[in-house]
Amino acid sequence: MPQSTNHRTSSTSQSPDGPTTFSRRQVLAGSAALLLGERIVQSQASLSKTVVFAHTTVVGVDAVQDDVALAVDGDKIVAIGPTEQVLETYPTADVYDGRGKALLPGLINCHAHMAAVLARGFNEDFGFPNSAQLAIRPNSLLEGEEAALMVTVAALEAIKTGTTTIVENTGNISPNAAALAQTGLRCVFAESVRDSENVAGPMSPGGLANSAPPRFSAKRRDEGLQRISDLFSTWHGKEQGRITVFPAAALAETSSPELLRAIRAFADKHDLGYTIHLSQSVPEVEFMVRHHGLRPPAFLDQHGFLGPRLFAAHCRYVNDADIALLGRTGTIVSHQANMAANRGVIPPIAKLRAAGCPIASGTDNNTNDMFGVMKIALLTERISRNDVIPGTRPQPEDILEDATQGGARAVNQEQLLGSLEIGKKADLIVLDTQQAHLVPAGRIVSAWIHNGQPSDIESVMVDGQFVMRSRKVLTMDEDRIIAEADKVGRRIWNQVEAASPITVPRLPRRQ
Ligand SMILES: [Zn+2]
Repeated sequence: MPQSTNHRTSSTSQSPDGPTTFSRRQVLAGSAALLLGERIVQSQASLSKTVVFAHTTVVGVDAVQDDVALAVDGDKIVAIGPTEQVLETYPTADVYDGRGKALLPGLINCHAHMAAVLARGFNEDFGFPNSAQLAIRPNSLLEGEEAALMVTVAALEAIKTGTTTIVENTGNISPNAAALAQTGLRCVFAESVRDSENVAGPMSPGGLANSAPPRFSAKRRDEGLQRISDLFSTWHGKEQGRITVFPAAALAETSSPELLRAIRAFADKHDLGYTIHLSQSVPEVEFMVRHHGLRPPAFLDQHGFLGPRLFAAHCRYVNDADIALLGRTGTIVSHQANMAANRGVIPPIAKLRAAGCPIASGTDNNTNDMFGVMKIALLTERISRNDVIPGTRPQPEDILEDATQGGARAVNQEQLLGSLEIGKKADLIVLDTQQAHLVPAGRIVSAWIHNGQPSDIESVMVDGQFVMRSRKVLTMDEDRIIAEADKVGRRIWNQVEAASPITVPRLPRRQ
C-alpha cells in the first residue's frame, strides 16, 4: 500500500501532525475534506512517490503495447517503455507487478445523476418520463446527510466499474460537493438551472396535453445563475484541478432564450463545457414545436446554444434536419446507451457521427457503470445500422474511444485526459486479464467489452493516486457505505410502497 494514498482513507488521515480521526458524520458531510484541505496538499507533496506498472500491457484505441512499463510521477504519466529502462530511470519507484494485467485509460462518464441510485430497480422499467406515478418521490424522503450517502455509494460503484471522471448533472450540487470530492474521482459539477414557471420537469404525454405557453421567471433564472457562480467560485480548480464546475441548462422545455444565452456566455467566459438534456422524448419535441414553433435543436440554435463546447445529452428523437444542425455546429452528443435501451429507444448515433457530432458516453440515472454502458452502446449501435456486413461497426475500439477520448473532449480536458500518453494525467484502470472469460484473446479491448466483467478491474488511479488498489477502495469504507445505503433504501422504499403499491406491467401469461 503506497503511503501516498493514506490521506484518502475515509476515517483517518495521516499528516505531519499525526493521524486525525473524523466521525462518520463529518466524513459523510464532507467536512473532513474541507478541514483537511491544507494538510492534504502538504502530505501529498511529501508522500508522493513514483509508481511503475512493470511488464504490463498498455492499451490505446489505436495500438496496444505488450510487455512495457508505464511510470506515473505526481499526477502525470511520465514514461512508457521497456520495463528495465523505465525502472532504471525510477529506481525507488513503487513497482506494481503488471504481468497478466492491462492498463486502459479511465472511463469518463459525461452524464450522471448520482443520487438517483435510490430509484434503482424501479426507474428502469416504466419508460420516460417514468409512468408509474408514485404517490411519493423516493428522493424526497432522503434526510440530512443521506443525499451525500447516495452520491457516495454511486461514486463507489463508479470506481469499481472503471470510471475516473464523472459529470454530476443536477441542481444544487453544493451540499454534496465535498462528499463527491472526497471520493477521489475527477468530478465535473454540472450545476443545472431551469427558469420555467409552468413546466416542472421533463415533458410527459399528460403534461403536453394540458400544456400552456411557457412562462419564465427572471428570479428563478437569477437564482440559478447565482448557484452556478457560487459553486464555480468555491470549487472550480480545487483538489489540484480534479474538480471543475460547468454551467448547465436542465431541459429545452424548461429553458428561456435568456437562460440559454447566459449559460453559453458563462461557459465561453471561463473556457468551460456546458450541457443540457436534448430531444429525449416525443412529448418534449411536440411541446417545443407547439409553443416555440421549432424542434428542440433549432430552438437552441436560434438562441446561440449549439456549438463545440456543448455536450447535449441523449438526442434520441432527432430527425435528419436536427442531425444536420447538430453536426454543422460541432455539438457533442453524450449517449446514454444503457438508459436509452431501458427506455426502448436507440438514438441515431451512426447518423450523428456521420454528420460530424463527436460522441461521448454517460450512464444517466440509477447506474454508474460505464463498462455496462460500453457493452450496450456497442450492441445497440450495431443493431441500429444497416451495414453491408452487419456486425462489423462500430468496433469495441470505437466505443472505448467514445468513453475515453470522447469524454475528454466533452469535459474540455482533451489535452489532459482520455488516453495513456506521456504528459497526460494518470487516470487509468488496471484489468486483471487472467480470467477464464478473457483468455485466450485476439484483442484485449474486444475480449473485455464483449466478454468481460467490471470486476476484472483490480485497480483504479485518478490524478496519479490509487482510489482502488487490488480491489480495495481506498477513499471510503466500502462495507459501511453499502450497509448504510441499503438501510436507507429499505426504509424509503417501504414508505413509498406503503403509499402507492407498484404495479408492474408484466406480459400476459399463458394460461
Ligand atoms: Zn439526465
